[in-house]
Amino acid sequence: MRAPRFSRLFAQLALLNQHQRHAVLAALHPAAGLDRIVFLVDEIRSRTRRCPRCACEQCYRHGYANDLQRFRCCSCGRTFNDLTGTPLARLRLKGKWLDYLGALLDSQPVRTAAKRVGVHRNTAFRWRHRFLERVKHDRPAQLTGIVEADELFLLESQKGSRKLDRKARKRGGRASRRGISRELDCILVARDRSGATIDAVTGRGALKSAQLTKHLLPKLAPQALLVTDANAAYQTFARTHRIAHQSVNLSAGERVRSSLEGAIHVQNVNAYHSRFRAWLARFHGVASNRLPNYLGWRWALDGGRVTSVEQLLRIAFGVINR
Ligand SMILES: [Zn+2]
Repeated sequence: MRAPRFSRLFAQLALLNQHQRHAVLAALHPAAGLDRIVFLVDEIRSRTRRCPRCACEQCYRHGYANDLQRFRCCSCGRTFNDLTGTPLARLRLKGKWLDYLGALLDSQPVRTAAKRVGVHRNTAFRWRHRFLERVKHDRPAQLTGIVEADELFLLESQKGSRKLDRKARKRGGRASRRGISRELDCILVARDRSGATIDAVTGRGALKSAQLTKHLLPKLAPQALLVTDANAAYQTFARTHRIAHQSVNLSAGERVRSSLEGAIHVQNVNAYHSRFRAWLARFHGVASNRLPNYLGWRWALDGGRVTSVEQLLRIAFGVINR
């Protein structure tokens, strides 16, 4: 639209009644969301932009497609945009992404989020896992000082799978055997006293010391003091790797013991378990293979660590949030 015509149109905005103003705002909202996303994506990627094929940092602008600037690599000639090679590549309706990230920040179930953003529920589900793909990797590099570790068990779920590798359960919810069995997914959570938390889905059934070696060892600072319950897997693990270790015998009624290093208990990690379980309940069961995404999502929100859609978008791009 040419400038004089736009000025006339703009002057008329003052004449709108409330209903009309809202209609105009609603019509412009996706465009405003799109402009903001395009700006943010450029801001996030400009410092780390490189060719997805050869990692060359030299590129030049090469037109626009799907609302995004395209680039051409100076060395191999490949064209790409700022989403190429990220989990967000080829996702449509960019104007609605920020609203969707708002729904993620508010922990909204798929249908609620779909309604809020104005997309189909299948889209909302697909977006959830694309946006969370890198969020789950945004973890502290190390746990230091007193590190509490404990496992949490959830009923294994093949929600959404076309083929089950076991008989279907009637009405969802219960294991057929008591205690820890192969029907349960084991989730290891370790948390230090500064609140830094890591977790790992170690698979079905009881925790083994080899899994601790795989998931916990790389994250433990050399001087860390590991505090756990009396599960023998932790003892074997600590002994094998010569890690300082204290255990509390919960089954004997012991809760807290004091030591030179500080109070010995696993109450912080258990409180984290409770918050995770309570938060997860709103989704009415999640598929086992998606659990890492939910754990990452929960960690992003826990204690108000991530509070803005911009911050969440940054993490969705794999820009580490420190
Ligand atoms: Zn290249």
